[in-house]
Amino acid sequence: MKIAFIGLGNMGGGMAANLVKAGHEVRAFDLANEALEKAAEHGCSVFGSVQEAVEGVDAVVSMLPNGQIVLSAYTGEVFGNAPKGAILLDCSTIDVATAREVAEQAAKHGYEMVDAPVSGGIAAASGGTLTFMVGGSESAFKRAEPILQAMGKAVIHAGDAGNGQAAKICNNMLLGISMLGTCEAFAMAQKLGLDPQTFYDISSVSSGQCWSMTSYCPVPGVGPTSPADNDYQGGFAAGLMLKDLRLAMEAAESADAAVPMGARARALYEDFVGAGNGTQDFSGIIRTLK
Ligand code: NAD
Repeated sequence: MKIAFIGLGNMGGGMAANLVKAGHEVRAFDLANEALEKAAEHGCSVFGSVQEAVEGVDAVVSMLPNGQIVLSAYTGEVFGNAPKGAILLDCSTIDVATAREVAEQAAKHGYEMVDAPVSGGIAAASGGTLTFMVGGSESAFKRAEPILQAMGKAVIHAGDAGNGQAAKICNNMLLGISMLGTCEAFAMAQKLGLDPQTFYDISSVSSGQCWSMTSYCPVPGVGPTSPADNDYQGGFAAGLMLKDLRLAMEAAESADAAVPMGARARALYEDFVGAGNGTQDFSGIIRTLK
């Protein structure tokens, strides 16, 4: 297939390279020259504008920073320039309302579109092991699925337009809350005189067990290797967790959902990121509790 790829940063760069590896012709556009240079090294053809990149394509994939940018890229440049039969896939993490608005406008212009945000970070993007949560009609999902499969290990249909974003922010809100709970428990256990490894050995096979503990332990030297073992570098940046918690709080307000724990997690990550820790892994917040 001929695929336009818009936004080849930390995530999009690896994803586009995997589309090339799968045999697709990838036409790249990014505002940053550095991203385009890397894309060319990975076998993409590079273009000077979205309009040029989407010419004659079968599909458009985007991986952009936020909803405003996604909305203006599609309404200002993709719609009307991409062929009518092209399937559109936005993989960025954005707010549910904007995802639904872009999909609605796509339909008005005669395009099928899915929101397909990802779980998994930069390593999963370059390794082709992302999980995609997809919102859109059954027929749009069927068309998007093989393209997403070339970039991930799991592709799950979450329902209509916007539901991919809804799944993503509910999942990440839960992750933020469970990470904070795990950090609190380890910090308190230590203050009560329990060795962290001993607490891990007990809790990891008891009812307190969760992913934040057994796959991504915030305590160095405990559990499988995690960013805690690398001085909280790499992994999932606290600034991105804060972005997702803010999106979750916006969505909760619009849906009138009660999210007291999500709100507390957002406030704690606001403080953590505000204190200059935005690029640190999100599990580093344990340092503020110790
Ligand atoms: P990034 O900043 O590295 O990449 C974004 C790219 O978009 C940049 O190269 C930028 O130049 C480009 N860009 C911005 N505006 C543009 C425009 N109008 N037209 C074309 N290109 C434009 O960010 P990232 O880490 O790759 O994240 C991308 C998306 O993936 C975000 O929505 C983020 O929330 C989501 N995400 C990131 C991670 C992660 O671990 N980094 C994990 C899951 C989801």
